[in-house]
Amino acid sequence: MNHLMHFLTHTLFGLLFYHFNIIPSFTLLFLFIAFGILIDVDHLIFFVLHHRTFSLKKIIKISRMYRKKMQPNLYVFHSPEVNIVLGVLSFFNFLFFLVFLSNVVHLGLDILEHYAYYKHFRWIKQWSILFEFLQKIKH
Ligand SMILES: [Zn+2]
Repeated sequence: MNHLMHFLTHTLFGLLFYHFNIIPSFTLLFLFIAFGILIDVDHLIFFVLHHRTFSLKKIIKISRMYRKKMQPNLYVFHSPEVNIVLGVLSFFNFLFFLVFLSNVVHLGLDILEHYAYYKHFRWIKQWSILFEFLQKIKH
């Protein structure tokens, strides 16, 4: 999903969470919205690691190529494993809860977009660290 849609959706959900006091301050509301955008930094990490480049021009080109194909990859902050850990840590610290809540909204949008493209959920395994690990030891 594009960043504008994430920004708008996080603003809307953030205001709802603020209204119902799930997010208790404007500072935390701002962080909730920021986390909803910043999660996608894992795409950069993936591109740098897999294409071994720091060239912004190349990264933008690669990013557009993946986007056009709606290619699911292991973007670490999108993985179920990281989000399960965040979910558990949410019980102990509000900031983790805020990141987790923001990720849930972000991933919800990303999953909807991928589902609309693929019409199934089989692609979702490619977001998994465990799946990637099992693929690596098989080869
Ligand atoms: Zn995303």
